[in-house]
Amino acid sequence: MSFRLKTVLGIALIEAILLAFLIFSVLGYLKDSNEEQLLNRVNTTVTLFATAVKDAVIATDLATLESIVDSVMDNPGIVFARVLDVTDLVLAEKSLVFSSVDNFVENTSSEDVIDNIFRTSRNIVIDGEKFGTVQLGFDIRHLKQMLEEAQEKSISIAMVEMILVGLFSTFLGVYLTRQLKRLRDASNAIASGQHGYQIEASGNDEITATIRAFNKMSSEVERDVNLLKEAKYEISVAKDEAEKANKAKSEFLSNMSHELRTPLNAIIGFAQLLEIDGVNDDQKDSVNEIKKAGEHLLSLINQVLDLSKIEAGRFELSMDTVDLDSLVDECLSLISPLQSKHNIEVTKHVNTPNLLLNGDYLRIKQVLINLLSNAIKYNKPSGEVIIQTSKLDSRYCRILIQDTGIGISQNEIRQLFKPFQRLNADNYETEGTGIGLFISKSLVELMNGSISVESEVGQGSKFIIDIPLSDIKLTSNDDNQDAESRQPVMSDMATRKSILYIEDNPSNQRLVKKILAPWDKRIDLFVADNGIDGFELFQRYQPDLVLLDINLPDMSGIDIINLIKDKYDIEKTPVIAVTANAMATDLERYEQEGFAHCITKPIDIQDFCAVIDRYLLASDKLTAERND
Ligand code: ADP
Repeated sequence: MSFRLKTVLGIALIEAILLAFLIFSVLGYLKDSNEEQLLNRVNTTVTLFATAVKDAVIATDLATLESIVDSVMDNPGIVFARVLDVTDLVLAEKSLVFSSVDNFVENTSSEDVIDNIFRTSRNIVIDGEKFGTVQLGFDIRHLKQMLEEAQEKSISIAMVEMILVGLFSTFLGVYLTRQLKRLRDASNAIASGQHGYQIEASGNDEITATIRAFNKMSSEVERDVNLLKEAKYEISVAKDEAEKANKAKSEFLSNMSHELRTPLNAIIGFAQLLEIDGVNDDQKDSVNEIKKAGEHLLSLINQVLDLSKIEAGRFELSMDTVDLDSLVDECLSLISPLQSKHNIEVTKHVNTPNLLLNGDYLRIKQVLINLLSNAIKYNKPSGEVIIQTSKLDSRYCRILIQDTGIGISQNEIRQLFKPFQRLNADNYETEGTGIGLFISKSLVELMNGSISVESEVGQGSKFIIDIPLSDIKLTSNDDNQDAESRQPVMSDMATRKSILYIEDNPSNQRLVKKILAPWDKRIDLFVADNGIDGFELFQRYQPDLVLLDINLPDMSGIDIINLIKDKYDIEKTPVIAVTANAMATDLERYEQEGFAHCITKPIDIQDFCAVIDRYLLASDKLTAERND
């Protein structure tokens, strides 16, 4: 029910109840006072009439009685007058309506009157003796009419009043709801962003006062919103400035680290030369100190350089397939001097062997070395460290590094992966910068992995690293049947074949070695990790096939194929590019340069074996033709 209808009905109901009460009380009062007047008049008249006829009744003077009855009848409203003797014999009578004595029943109130005639009588008594009776009839029709008219008029007035009230309350409802609607529209306007929206307010009533209060609130909202906007703008300017300053800082750190590295390399290099050239025992210690300090400084500078690149978002990874087992072995051999120095036992558990990861070999190594050396550095004397590798699910592998060291409290864990947080390490006089874990976490996350820690003070810590697995699977490790059936095959050759693989990334070298291992009785694999060594091996062995990485540290794969082309026939020794640059323009360029084929990284083992087989078979045929 609308507010307007509620207002109209409410007011009309109250009005109707009040009017009904008013009508009933007025009509009741009117009736009572008329009745009183009637009874007074009836009493007075009948008393006077009885007194007037007394003597004439005693004397049975009929003529006088007749004249008294006539004069009584002259009174307005009297419709009959009668005088009876003691035996109820009519002595004189005059009537405008009827003259029968039989139907005379005396009335005590106008309520019992049925024919509009109020009947009354009075005995004529002298000294206690009755001599006769007078009877009178009063016409009370006009009285009843007047009451009926009063009732009708009251009802009509009440109806008019009800209509007026209805109209008035409707207007009031319209007025009120219109004002409320304006308030509602204004609230919606503010909600839709028109802060400061104002409603026109004129008058002095409560609604206008509410509207004024609303307008005031709206202005204040507008002022606050403007203040907020200004503050937001200032914050964004300050944020831009802070970001610029941070970028400048990162660039400065990056440039400075670069600049510092050059002289430092010279310091370390010449210290090594001094060591090699032979110095006396005193000098040996000093040279050793220079070398150690130089190497420590270099590792700090490298960490700061990594940090600045990560913060500037300029860190580049070289994603590849990484053989986890050999990576862990390499890390363990690298940290063994630290392990012996601290007298900590390090154990390896391989839960799932032959796992291949998709990551940056050097960077995963950096993370594991950091975590392993922390596990050793922050351990107790004669403590233990366990490194455990396992397959987490179909997409991730998990590396756990667990120690029995000092542990890290829950509060400290919150600070652990923030840069330059050394927690309580300073108390233990352990070397460190407090940025290793921040870099490790950033690196693992850049490789789409995650790193977390569980620790108990005094008991030790467990660092958990999850890294995506590579799509490539080595046939021997896979427990699913499918892999068995997809075991690559290689044709039988008439002669023993040789392949030269020039590649700087150790993980790729290991992978290719592993792939070709089943045919090591038929294929010789020579591996070089730079261009110069590679070309030398080529000249020495003149292999049947060359697998050539394009991005090598000393020269590019293109330079090497040009060197080969200058002196040898690449029709006889096909050169295959093995590269992560797989854009159409790159492939076109390799073809133009004379590459027989291009294998893109990450390597698909089936395709890889098929390509090798094809070229070795072709070379087998070529040798056979030549021999014929
Ligand atoms: P750094 O070792 O160079 O100080 P990290 O970032 O690698 O820097 O480690 C940060 C801090 O976290 C360390 O200084 C040490 O207080 C604490 N921490 C790291 N690893 C461990 C651990 N295995 N046990 C106890 N505390 C550790």
